[in-house]
Amino acid sequence: MAGTDRGDLTRTAILALLGTVGPLSRTEIARELDLSPASVTQLTRELIGHGMLEELDLKPSRGGRPAQRLGLVGSAGRALGVKVTADRLVLVDVRLDGEVLGSWELPCDPAAADVLDDLAGAVESVVRDVSARPGAPLLGVGVGVPGSVDDQAVGTVNAPTLGWQAMPVGERLRRRLNLPVLVENDVNALAAAERLYGRGRTHRDFLVVTIGRGVGAAIVADGRVYRGARGGAGEFGHLPVDPDGPVCGCGARGCLEAFVGWAGLLGAARAKGLAVPGAVPVDSPSGPGDARADGTPATGRADAPVAALGRAAAGGDPVARAVFEEAGAILGRATAGLINVVDPEVVVVLGEGTADWPLWRAGFDPALRAQLYPGRRDISIEVESWDDTSWAQGAAALVLATPFDAAGAAGEQGRLVRARLIGATP
Ligand SMILES: [Zn+2]
Repeated sequence: MAGTDRGDLTRTAILALLGTVGPLSRTEIARELDLSPASVTQLTRELIGHGMLEELDLKPSRGGRPAQRLGLVGSAGRALGVKVTADRLVLVDVRLDGEVLGSWELPCDPAAADVLDDLAGAVESVVRDVSARPGAPLLGVGVGVPGSVDDQAVGTVNAPTLGWQAMPVGERLRRRLNLPVLVENDVNALAAAERLYGRGRTHRDFLVVTIGRGVGAAIVADGRVYRGARGGAGEFGHLPVDPDGPVCGCGARGCLEAFVGWAGLLGAARAKGLAVPGAVPVDSPSGPGDARADGTPATGRADAPVAALGRAAAGGDPVARAVFEEAGAILGRATAGLINVVDPEVVVVLGEGTADWPLWRAGFDPALRAQLYPGRRDISIEVESWDDTSWAQGAAALVLATPFDAAGAAGEQGRLVRARLIGATP
């Protein structure tokens, strides 16, 4: 390790502090990080020189002269986030401060023999597009996948729902793009975004639970996403619920996801005699280059039957309402179990399924409270707004969080991201 690493770590710590708590004065930075005022003055001067920090308003201080506060420059860097789904790729271009600059949706068949070439080609075309625009430097590419990833900075993926086993996603993308690439489980990536822009600013221990096509969770413990021994922690959808339940996509019977994922909701609706399509179609990609910037729903989307079920329930159909209420109760009991084990401060519910949350809630709330351990019954369940690019924004946050990650969880790729941000050769 070079002799400059100590200063690098301190600069990263300053960025991390301002990135997570907001603007502070030099005196406050020195106090928070236990640094001498002289070091803070020198390091912040460098960061201002690199265009990463800026001097903000004068904050009135008691008695003495007003203290100038320092804040991050949102336009100092940008990242591309990529979400891989069973039928398409969603990509977003995001600034350091979380502002979304653009989004793309491209067809992708994960079962294709040359899927990694397709993926790399699609990402490369968008990288070229983004790099041609004026503005902040592109720091790297974050990729979110519905599966387990050995290590963010290596990026070998196991994702049964995509039919992927030991897929070298990170390696192939890095070779093709010549950029830092971080690959992570999609729910863990959402947790990284929450840590950077959401609940994680004020909570060090929280759970993210996602509902939609699948069901997932991320565990943030002491400010870090808990990944487990092989990056597989948080597979909440495969929590056993009932040994006699429906067969799950993982091959086992009666998993949580088999009851409350899209296929589970439609199966329950059919069992109650509602006319719904036989299966969740996964072979209905939108047209080539179908950028849905205007927010118009494309036709033939995989979520169409579930959306129809939601409309029927919202319109008062008692059978459709019962489907969501029963799914909500199953999810509520399982979530209570997870809370009892992990003891988070707060639970954040995300995912495309949250569009129907008022319907889920009728079953979720009573089942959750009934199953929570005494002393945890007042835990806050927070449902956040969601749109089609939210997963991809999480993937971008993998890269954008790296400059603030004083512990260096992103490894060598993280060092390359920081080097691009500071504009120095590594
Ligand atoms: Zn399963």
